[in-house]
Amino acid sequence: MDKNNIPIINPINGQTLYEIQEISVEQAKAVFQTAKTMETKIRQMSLEQRIAEVEKINQYVLEHGNFILDCIIAETGKSRTDAFAAEVFEVCDVIDVYKKLAPKLLKDKSVPIPIFLMGKKAQQWMEPLGTILVITPWNFPFYQVIVPALLAFLAGNAVVVKPSEVTPLVPLWNDFFVKSGFMKDAIQVVVGGKETGALLLAERPAKVHFTGSVRTGKKIGEACAKELIPVDLELGGKDPSIVFDDVNIDRTVNGVMWGAFTNAGQNCTGIERLYVQEGIYDKFIETLVDKTKKLKTSSIDRNTKVAEDCDVGAITSAFQVSIIEDHIEDAVAKGAKVLCGGIEQKGSHHIKPTILVDCNHSMKIAAEETFGPTLAIMKFKTEEEAIRLANDSPYGLSASVWSKDIERGKRVARQLVCGNVCINNHMINEANPYLPFGGVKDSGIGRFKGEEGVLTFCNHKSVIIDQQSNMIEPHWYPFTQSKYELLNNLMNAYFRKPKNWLKFAKNGLRIDTIGKKEQIK
Ligand code: ADP
Repeated sequence: MDKNNIPIINPINGQTLYEIQEISVEQAKAVFQTAKTMETKIRQMSLEQRIAEVEKINQYVLEHGNFILDCIIAETGKSRTDAFAAEVFEVCDVIDVYKKLAPKLLKDKSVPIPIFLMGKKAQQWMEPLGTILVITPWNFPFYQVIVPALLAFLAGNAVVVKPSEVTPLVPLWNDFFVKSGFMKDAIQVVVGGKETGALLLAERPAKVHFTGSVRTGKKIGEACAKELIPVDLELGGKDPSIVFDDVNIDRTVNGVMWGAFTNAGQNCTGIERLYVQEGIYDKFIETLVDKTKKLKTSSIDRNTKVAEDCDVGAITSAFQVSIIEDHIEDAVAKGAKVLCGGIEQKGSHHIKPTILVDCNHSMKIAAEETFGPTLAIMKFKTEEEAIRLANDSPYGLSASVWSKDIERGKRVARQLVCGNVCINNHMINEANPYLPFGGVKDSGIGRFKGEEGVLTFCNHKSVIIDQQSNMIEPHWYPFTQSKYELLNNLMNAYFRKPKNWLKFAKNGLRIDTIGKKEQIK
């Protein structure tokens, strides 16, 4: 194998599927040259034409769903239902929503004008920015590429996407661009590793949309800051979930279990910390452990087609396996008890859902992003204590509160420092494209989806339309004492309470007259 080749590995059986390479400076330049040409073409299209192109993505997904799933599973090892729900169904949902939202969001908008600009018209035009660079991670390799790309395209931009080198889905993209009939080169998928990402960034895209780790997000943010490239950063999380003692235990256990272990926990909004109120603590943990033990996990038997029918799939990257192991070992060394799961075979990509109790915030498992099928559980007494513990984190992505008392749920939710919160559910905010998604603190900058989903990729151009007349503005030259006094009178007549409309009108008329008289000839 060439040293510069990056192998793409099937995490279920360890086989190398194919290899990719970093691109060269010349290739990065060629990509952006093509994008430049496409910028003009896309800008000239009507929104209806762009929606028709996006509809081709929808058609492709509907017709080739199984192929898409096979490609995703081969490179991620995730369970088929995880892949179907979050990557295939979701893409169709996003397209369906934005076909309705985009025309409303992108149309020219008339806005009011303040008193100072009386008589003029003001509008806001949503224009494309140019070429958007989308850099994506490996946990949802189809969704995270196609969704930001299609939103940026809908806003009228050319798009360059650099998928993760762990899951570049080359067979899928090759098939997609041939069979979907989607506008050639409007979205260019450029595979490669970190160097490729850096080379594309050096070509100065109009905006960067990054999803990935905090570590890399900070680097990308720094590189963008140097060149004043705007950037949205969707980074990690350490989601807390608070369970009060009035809940329906069965329903809540099922919800928490899914929230923690879906996509094998490789989800920035998966539940990683669980705070359970003392009144139901023992019963809740017993039920949770009991149900968790019944989940079907991906298997180390290389001949089993585990991803087809398991609940909890494999861990996609070897790098992540070692982080998960390190967090479990650290927790156990500091006094946590593993009630189910744990490390059965070091280095294995098949990690059983792992429940740990007696955890505290000095443990990595409760403080750093684990990104695996682990759940660190802690007991709490009061509402205040739960809020304090939930907020004791550098992350602020998503959270959940479980209680029959919806008012209490809302009261607690308001005090959680995070970008997304669910009451009596978890992370399904992400499944509603009408809602913005994003984090605070180390979880990122900017919002994705919702109205911002398209608007973030626009130049919000502000427009004033004035008439050709013989009027000279009061704030134009020359600056005279009389104009200054009239403007002062005008301000006092309008902004003091009560408004003095008579004084306002008189001074307004005099300003107009003086403006004409005192103009520079
Ligand atoms: P993860 O996929 O584990 O979240 P990262 O956050 O490191 O990993 O990577 C996310 C994406 O960022 C990947 O596509 C990766 O190739 C890309 N990337 C990593 N480092 C850089 C860099 N310095 N410049 C541009 N892209 C990068």
